[in-house]
Amino acid sequence: MIEDEKYIARAVAEVLKKSHYTVDLAYDGEYGLECSTMEIYDAVILDIMLPKRDGLSVLREMRKQGIKTPVLLLTARGEVEDRVQGLDLGADDYLAKPFHTDELLARLRAICRRKVNEDYDGLISFSDIKLSPHTLMLKYDGGEVSLTLKETQILEILMNNVNRIVTKGSIIEKVWGYDTDVEDNHVESHISLLRKKMSGAGTAARIRTIRGAGYTLISGEDGS
Ligand code: CA
Repeated sequence: MIEDEKYIARAVAEVLKKSHYTVDLAYDGEYGLECSTMEIYDAVILDIMLPKRDGLSVLREMRKQGIKTPVLLLTARGEVEDRVQGLDLGADDYLAKPFHTDELLARLRAICRRKVNEDYDGLISFSDIKLSPHTLMLKYDGGEVSLTLKETQILEILMNNVNRIVTKGSIIEKVWGYDTDVEDNHVESHISLLRKKMSGAGTAARIRTIRGAGYTLISGEDGS
C-alpha cells in the first residue's frame, strides 16, 4: 500500500492483516515505486496524491518497466480526470476516498482474481508455452505435459513476472507461505524437475538462473 496519510495507511493495513493479507507500507511515491519493482505483490493499493512522486507517475513507471501487478488506485472524490488517466495508464480499478473498508476488500479480491496474461480459457501464455493452472498442464506446440502442483505454482509466478528476476525467497513465500521451513534447495529441485519437463518438450521458453539473485523466464529466441 502506497499512501502518505499514515493513519489511513495503518488503519487499512490492520483491516487487510485481519483478512490474512500481508502488507508492506510505503509513505511516498519513490519508495513505493522501489517496493513495487523489487518485490512481487498480488496487488498494489496506490494513492494519487503522494510526496516525492505522485501515484500516476508511479503507475506509469511500473507499467513502463513491464510490471503488471494489479493496481487499485485511490482517488479524491470528484477527480474524474485522475480516474480516467489512471485507467488509461493501466490501473485495474479505482476507489474514491473516503471509502468503506468492505468495498476496498471487495475490489481488492476482484483485481487479485484477474490474472495477468490469462486468456478466456484460463490459460497463461508466454513464448511458445501455455500453462493451465487449473488442470496442472503445460501446453506447447505439439503436445502437453502434466506438472505437479508446486511446479505449476512456480511456473505461474515466473510467467506472471517475465520481465523480472524472481527470487527464491519470493517463490517460497508465494508457494509455501510465510511460516515454512522450506529452504532454497527445495525450490532448486522443483525448478530442476520443471526444466527437465520443459526441455523434454522442446519448448523455446526456458528458466534462466541469475546467479545470486533468482530466476527469470526467457524465450530461447532471445538468443540467451
Ligand atoms: Ca495522499
